Amino acid sequence: RGDLKLTGLHKRYPNGFVAVESLDLVIPQGSFFALLGPSGCGKTTTLRMVAGLEEATKGTIHIGDEDITYAKPYKRPVNTVFQNYALFPHLTIAENVAFGPKRRGAKDPASQVKEILALTELTEQAGKKPAQLSGGQQQRVALARAIINRPDVLLLDEPLGALDLKLRRAMQVELKRIQEEVGLTFVHVTHDQEEAMTMADTVAVMNKGRIEQMGAPYDLYTNP
Ligand code: ADP
Ligand code: ADP
Repeated sequence: RGDLKLTGLHKRYPNGFVAVESLDLVIPQGSFFALLGPSGCGKTTTLRMVAGLEEATKGTIHIGDEDITYAKPYKRPVNTVFQNYALFPHLTIAENVAFGPKRRGAKDPASQVKEILALTELTEQAGKKPAQLSGGQQQRVALARAIINRPDVLLLDEPLGALDLKLRRAMQVELKRIQEEVGLTFVHVTHDQEEAMTMADTVAVMNKGRIEQMGAPYDLYTNP
């Protein structure tokens, strides 16, 4: 456990395009960090490198003292929630959430599942199938699945992007509450300025593969 540290992290795609340019970033353990910027600025590429889904061209990724730059994705204490969360349609909500812990041979998956369902306010939905849930509830199931094994870092790539505006605002509050309760490091990617500003402790504004501004939301508002 520790801070997430990106040092000189760089991504050049095989076609020569540089999507992320020598990124230096320290994200304190337990903080809510937002990566804000227009489509195509390199946010997803950055997350994919942290998750191990995309190889960095240069640079290193550490969590605390541990160098995870070359670790296999499943060996990293990192989990990801995408916009297009895929729940198993034939499994109940409780079974969807229990899937990971069971596969990893967890000692008492049932009590873990109960705790996480309470945290994400899904206790009453435990026996239902995903299709019986609203979009916001389904998104909470995806979140429950991602945090049940307590990764050090949770990566969220436009997790609310598929929701309508009203639900989106409500989920922002939910997500913030859950982050504060579990105390995990959240790295939240969005192109929605209001979303970044209302949720994050620190906002980094990315453009063309670089971080142009970074600070607490209040400072970014008052010192643009
Ligand atoms: P964002 O998440 O901010 O929308 P991305 O990280 O998805 O940005 O993409 C950054 C840039 O890299 C975009 O211009 C995109 O077209 C480009 N890109 C993404 N994947 C590839 C790839 N496999 N090969 C070449 N360019 C890519
Ligand atoms: P998003 O905007 O949601 O981040 P994109 O639509 O930009 O995603 O990219 C979807 C997929 O296409 C990704 O796997 C990305 O790596 C790939 N991709 C994006 N841009 C390019 C590109 N210019 N060349 C090759 N692959 C690309």
